[in-house]
Amino acid sequence: MAKIVILGAGIAGNTAAMYARVHARKSDEVIVISPNSKWNWIPSNIWVGVGLMKPEDVTFEIAPIYKKMGIVFKQAKAISIHPEGNKNFTNPFVKIENIKSTNGISEENVEYDYLINATGPKLNFGATEGLGPDKNSYSVCTYLHAAEANKALQESIERMKKGERQKILIGTGHGNCTCQGAAFEYIFNVEYILNKHGVRDKADLTWISNEYELGDFGIGGMHIKRGGYITHSRVFAESLFAERGLDWITRAHVQKVDKKELFYETLEGEEKSTQFDFTMLIPPFAGVGLKAYGKMDEDITSKLFAPNSFMKVDADYTAKPFEEWKASDWPSTYQNPDYKNIFAVGIAFAPPHPISKPMKSPKGTPIFPTPPRTGMPSGVMGREVAKSVVDMIRNGTDKPTRKASMATMGAACIASSGAGIFDGKAVSMTMYPIIPDYEKYPSYGRDLNYTFGEIGLAGHWIKHILHYVFMYKAKGNPFWRMIPE
Ligand SMILES: Cc1cc2nc3c(=O)[nH]c(=O)nc-3n(C[C@H](O)[C@H](O)[C@H](O)COP(=O)(O)OP(=O)(O)OC[C@H]3O[C@@H](n4cnc5c(N)ncnc54)[C@H](O)[C@@H]3O)c2cc1C
Repeated sequence: MAKIVILGAGIAGNTAAMYARVHARKSDEVIVISPNSKWNWIPSNIWVGVGLMKPEDVTFEIAPIYKKMGIVFKQAKAISIHPEGNKNFTNPFVKIENIKSTNGISEENVEYDYLINATGPKLNFGATEGLGPDKNSYSVCTYLHAAEANKALQESIERMKKGERQKILIGTGHGNCTCQGAAFEYIFNVEYILNKHGVRDKADLTWISNEYELGDFGIGGMHIKRGGYITHSRVFAESLFAERGLDWITRAHVQKVDKKELFYETLEGEEKSTQFDFTMLIPPFAGVGLKAYGKMDEDITSKLFAPNSFMKVDADYTAKPFEEWKASDWPSTYQNPDYKNIFAVGIAFAPPHPISKPMKSPKGTPIFPTPPRTGMPSGVMGREVAKSVVDMIRNGTDKPTRKASMATMGAACIASSGAGIFDGKAVSMTMYPIIPDYEKYPSYGRDLNYTFGEIGLAGHWIKHILHYVFMYKAKGNPFWRMIPE
């Protein structure tokens, strides 16, 4: 019997757990450790943030689903990994802190044979003064954050209905943020909802981000072939913004958020500020801060984790200039190089470097997006790593059998820009590969036959249907494996 322990029950962890349970032997144990009792389809938090969905529409209780599937669920937070055991334990283990402790013991050690780290991001609001829902900006990164954002947005709408002008500022809250796509969807949905309430003319809507130009999205932008023309995503994004009367500030590192004013530094080195009545800013992401200890309880955190707290896997982490980056630097098996029974998937793995070109202001402030790891690749990594682990158990080797490199994987992303059945719209994008490969595709880094962008009502319908399809799949309902990640 083998024990597969999965940390985190998000898109990557839940997918890994379901595949591990299906493919592993009956006698093998699949244990998921995650602090939240609810599973959240995070992409639909955008609609919670504008009042088109409620938190209960985008979540479900994990425990009954895992019970049905034969997965052990511990509602707990992992604190540290002990890959060599210690003086008291011969086996590797994870120290966890129970959230719902019935017997008064809040800490527990869970032994494992294989560990899959799928802990996602730490929402690092602390990196920017005044950033975050407890301070002066709103967020849509969790369903609770999104519900709070909606409450404040509705108050702002009420003021507009009384004739007051409102300044709305949406984007990223630090020079090193990722997840621009989520902020992009939010500003478009806010614009849509203001029109619905008949108050669009009362709002000044501004985008602020750390992207070098609109449409970068942390993937260095992309080229799209349409009607015989090859267009950069900047042109596509700028025209969408211009059509809707949205202003934009790019190349910005947010330094501080006050009650009604945001201060930022630009890539050109200027210090500026802008006023707002309502602001939603995505925070920078870091790893969740797991520690690691060796046999003698010595601190080996830097052996397992990169300085940003994301876990080291089979990537090439050698520091090199942008011009020397290669698609092959990116990991494919997600196995930790030192401990062959540890893997990291989804946002939890440490990327070898950004995708967008790194830039610094004259003061040395880094202002560029860090790489996104979106839902589709996160799910695929979870699936493939779970299958590798099961194969390793069966074959009795330490060699992963499956690969899921973002450099050989395509991705589809549908960014909502309004959610009505007849007047909704979404930007549908596909790209191949996610990581540009200039050796294979010297002109644009990607295969333009598979890199596509289009806006329309059909995109909204697909996005809406996908909400229900992915909630259905995540619950392990019949035929869930027929639904792709
Ligand atoms: C608002 C928003 C909209 C988005 N929209 C899209 C979209 O339209 N399409 C798309 O492809 N992607 C989208 N994304 C990105 C997508 O949500 C992520 O790519 C995806 O959630 C990453 O999956 P993950 O499993 O790595 O992390 P998560 O889904 O964040 O899961 C991490 C899990 O780990 C748990 N955890 C945290 N700390 C610990 C700990 N110490 N111990 C144990 N467990 C822990 C968490 O509770 C959670 O269950 C969006 C993201 C945001 C924020």
